[in-house]
Amino acid sequence: MSNIIFLGPPGAGKGTQAQLLSKELGIPQISTGEILRKAMREGTKTGLEAKRYVESGALVPDDVVIAIVRERLQEPDCANGYMLDGFPRTVYQAEELGKFAKIDVAIELQLADEIIVNRLSGRRVCPKCGATYHISLLKNGEVCENDGEKLIQRPDDSEATIRNRLRVYQEQTAPLISYYKERGLLKAVNCEDSVEQNFQKVLEAING
Ligand code: ADP
Repeated sequence: MSNIIFLGPPGAGKGTQAQLLSKELGIPQISTGEILRKAMREGTKTGLEAKRYVESGALVPDDVVIAIVRERLQEPDCANGYMLDGFPRTVYQAEELGKFAKIDVAIELQLADEIIVNRLSGRRVCPKCGATYHISLLKNGEVCENDGEKLIQRPDDSEATIRNRLRVYQEQTAPLISYYKERGLLKAVNCEDSVEQNFQKVLEAING
């Protein structure tokens, strides 16, 4: 049974690595960012509440995301393990999570700030399936390889908002690194290499 958390600054590759690991291990990837963006697109109550926080790069209130995750972990596909990508993001979220879930490992993805800004400002996403790309690697124009949909830039991937997200990460989320270290659950992975090389390191961290 593997209940895995991905920690790390925005742009370190949590979503990409969690997507690969989800296929490898056959367990679901639960991304609170994706869930919130979907709710925003659909205009649900949660979506409307989250919008102004997400678009400015601030964190959505703890109780909103905690409720989302608590519900999601009760789905049958989580019975044999899951990966949390983008949650917890505050010590309070981690403490609450600890009351309804047992975490086996927390993987910390590490990346320097300058690389992050470059990666995120060049990021494009498929509005339909959520796949992510970097403009420098697109061969057939800005369309999704999975479904041909025209790619978009996330509104919170503008440079000013990225810098705000990095600040929010340092202030509110980085303390989780010591939180999981103290509990003997932390594994750090440097993510400056290619997606495939980083993934090998993630696998080693999980199996090692
Ligand atoms: P990234 O990791 O690239 O910042 P995410 O897709 O994980 O992107 O998150 C996008 C936004 O969604 C965050 O900036 C925040 O506003 C909101 N969000 C996602 N997860 C959480 C969370 N656990 N707690 C509070 N806000 C969250």
